[in-house]
Amino acid sequence: MVFKNKLPVSYLLFTGRGRINRLTYWTVSLFIWTSFYILFNLLEYVAGYSSTWAIYPLLGWSLLATAIKRLHDSNKSGHWLWLILIPVAGPLALIFLLGFKKGSVLPNRYGVVPGSAPDYFKNPQVETIVNDVTQLNPVTVARVVIPASREELGSIIKDTSGAIAIGGGRFSMGGQTASPGCTHVDMRKLNRIIAFSAQDKTIKVEAGIRWCDIQQYVDPHNLSVKIMQTYANFTVGGSLSVNCHGRYIGLGALILSVRSLEVILADGQLVKTSATEKPELFFACVGCYNAVAVIAAVELELEENVAVKREFRKMKRSKYKDFFFEHVRDNKDVVFHNGDLYPPYYKNARAVSWMKTTEKPTVKTRLMPLSAAYPIERYFISAFSKSKFGKWRREYIIDPVLYLSKKIHWRNYEAGYDVAELEPASRAESTYVLQEYFIPVRHFDAFSDLMAEIFIRHNVNTLNVSVRHAAADSGSMMAWAREEVFAFVVWYKQYTNEVEKGKVGVWTRELINAAIGFNGAYYLPYQAHATKEQFHLAYPDAKKLFDLKAKLDPGFKFRNILWDTYYNAV
Ligand SMILES: Cc1cc2nc3c(=O)[nH]c(=O)nc-3n(C[C@H](O)[C@H](O)[C@H](O)COP(=O)(O)OP(=O)(O)OC[C@H]3O[C@@H](n4cnc5c(N)ncnc54)[C@H](O)[C@@H]3O)c2cc1C
Repeated sequence: MVFKNKLPVSYLLFTGRGRINRLTYWTVSLFIWTSFYILFNLLEYVAGYSSTWAIYPLLGWSLLATAIKRLHDSNKSGHWLWLILIPVAGPLALIFLLGFKKGSVLPNRYGVVPGSAPDYFKNPQVETIVNDVTQLNPVTVARVVIPASREELGSIIKDTSGAIAIGGGRFSMGGQTASPGCTHVDMRKLNRIIAFSAQDKTIKVEAGIRWCDIQQYVDPHNLSVKIMQTYANFTVGGSLSVNCHGRYIGLGALILSVRSLEVILADGQLVKTSATEKPELFFACVGCYNAVAVIAAVELELEENVAVKREFRKMKRSKYKDFFFEHVRDNKDVVFHNGDLYPPYYKNARAVSWMKTTEKPTVKTRLMPLSAAYPIERYFISAFSKSKFGKWRREYIIDPVLYLSKKIHWRNYEAGYDVAELEPASRAESTYVLQEYFIPVRHFDAFSDLMAEIFIRHNVNTLNVSVRHAAADSGSMMAWAREEVFAFVVWYKQYTNEVEKGKVGVWTRELINAAIGFNGAYYLPYQAHATKEQFHLAYPDAKKLFDLKAKLDPGFKFRNILWDTYYNAV
């Protein structure tokens, strides 16, 4: 992939590695034959007919390389080109395979689906520093293992005597995927679809699969993931372990869409669990950061993939809660909703809803086209982050322009954003980071007043506060929504030096106190700034989880920075 990104033309024309889709194949073929025609005539004119022989090897090689990559797209090796030797039927079959056969909708042995989001963090066997997307939390581990099957995963867990930490997409931002000196298990090769029923609207997958891969698979059946985050790069296992949420109305944490799990305990035993089968284990797995078991597979509910139309209204922040309860909360036509609170003063909000519609989508593609470059998005984000004037421009110039056009997307499209669009030019001196606070709905105004005061007093460089809504959790021991809540998703920029990290810790603990004061919680996939006391006030059932961990994982095999910090620290 790196080679492809650096040398796209060389990749397309001269290597047989990787995959290309039908459109790329036709475009490249057209390019090859046009170039051949021009070169041929040029050479013939300048140096005579015999000189044209020089370009045939080039032609042959490039045709071969593109054909091999196209065969890979449908999981076939280059040997299928020998079909050319069978008269008539062979060439006809090849024309079909190369030009018309749709590629596999999931990653196959030759690579990921062309155009799908690349994995952020490559993990070659030799790498022993595990970091996350912010680059703030490097942890040196003893080894990295990449199981390719659930059986292999079971053996690794059973046979490893020391500490184990599990990694999915590594987008959590506080060392949740590693512990010093541990064996780090990279789950991303466990990415198969195990079972699928379009009729029952369910899918069973291995836990290392990413949402974008599931979307590719279910979209042709006009189905959609029921609950996931806004971005589609995350693994299902990582999302289950944090019990993620999206912007869906009438839903909440991911646990509400989980039928059952297959998990592996610290002794290597594989156990099936659900809300009704061994429920204690189930509620100690979803939302519980690999405290007692590794999630190997999961059965999830799916939802119909409908077209959704964007509607929005800007208002004073003080009007948002009433607006939400009157127009959004019980409105069955709203699929996604969030409110953006504008920094630096947080006085205004933009409520954005995506409503079911029968109108034709304004985008041609059913899924978000995932590419590696987002220069415009990145430029705007960087501009907002530079000054108060940048934030003013966003609220009063950029956003009004961006919201001028009519937008109608498919549900899958709107749930398919690529984290790459948020990537800063460099994370060396400063980095973008997330935090999140869950507040019972009745305290929306009081908490947002306090939050704004804390941000302004500490001069926090907030890029956005996105407000979402979630119904109460069904019982995770680490439930962040013990009742109906608003989620305040805070996206901010911080410097990476130790002094600045310390300052972030100070205002974060103030915000956590504010959340706890309203019987709320803070989100755990982010930096572990909370004191042990704050942790237990925000997650009162953690003690139950710890009791179970002591029974199921007596050797404290499953570790990460979160459990190194808070486990057994009552
Ligand atoms: C740009 C951005 C936007 C985000 N938006 C949202 C949002 O809208 N809503 C939301 O809820 N969250 C959001 N998050 C947070 C995100 O949901 C979590 O960080 C999530 O864990 C990412 O998944 P991952 O695959 O990267 O997990 P990782 O970071 O790799 O792992 C997270 C935790 O899960 C554990 N884990 C991973 N796989 C398994 C497994 N198979 N079995 C047991 N434990 C496992 C790890 O040990 C770790 O403790 C966002 C994060 C980013 C960076």
